[in-house]
Amino acid sequence: MALQRKYLIWDFDGTLAYRPGQWSGAMAQVLHRFAGLEVDPASLRPSLQKGFPWHTPDRVNPPMLAAADWWDSLLPVFEDAFVGCGLTPDRAKALAGNVRPTYADVAEWRLFEDTKDVLKGLLDEGWKHAILSNHVPELRSLVDGLGLSPLIDRIVNSAETGFEKPHPGAFQAALSSLDDPAEVWMIGDSINADILGAESVGLRAILVRCKDPRAQRIAESLSDVRRFIG
Ligand SMILES: [Mg+2]
Repeated sequence: MALQRKYLIWDFDGTLAYRPGQWSGAMAQVLHRFAGLEVDPASLRPSLQKGFPWHTPDRVNPPMLAAADWWDSLLPVFEDAFVGCGLTPDRAKALAGNVRPTYADVAEWRLFEDTKDVLKGLLDEGWKHAILSNHVPELRSLVDGLGLSPLIDRIVNSAETGFEKPHPGAFQAALSSLDDPAEVWMIGDSINADILGAESVGLRAILVRCKDPRAQRIAESLSDVRRFIG
C-alpha cells in the first residue's frame, strides 16, 4: 500500500514571507533608483488595483511558457502607474522594465519571524509542506533564496499554472501535485483567495495573521495552527 501523507498547503505572500512595501514600494524604489524621483508609495497604490492576473481569478490563463512573457503582459500596468506619477509615456516605458528585477530581488524579501521554526517543527511532527501562491514567476527562486527549499515539498504557482486563487483550479492543481494525500489543510492570510477558495473545493482551511468573521478557524500565529490540525 502506498504511504499516505499529511500535507499543509501554505500561501506564501503575507503568510510565510513578505516584501516590505509590496508592489507600490517596489515601484517607488524603481522611481528612486532609476529616475531620482521620490514618490510616496501610497500614491501608486490606486493604479495597481487592477491589471494583475490575481485581480481576475475567474479568468484562467494558459500555462506559462516563459517568465518574460508573464512580465511583458504587466508592462502597461507599470507604465500607467508611472505616468500617473507625472512621467512622460516614453519615460514610463523606459522605466517599466526595471520593475521585474526590483520586485523579484530576494534581498528585498523577508520571512516572518516564526516561519522557519514552525515549518521545521511541523515537518518533525510528520507534516509535509506545499506552497500554493498567486505569484510572480520567480516564486521558486524567492523560496530558495529565503532558505525554505529544504522544508517545502511542492510549489504550485499561479504564474505557471494559469489558475489564480480562489479559482478551484488553483487548489486542484495543488492537490494533484501531492503524493497520496491522506490529510490536507490550506493555511493563508486571505479570506477570499485562501480560505473561502479552499473551502469551495472541500478543503479545510485556517486563516492566519488576520481576522475575518467568515473564517471558521483563525490561528493567532503560525504555530497556533496546531490547535486545529491535531
Ligand atoms: Mg497572502
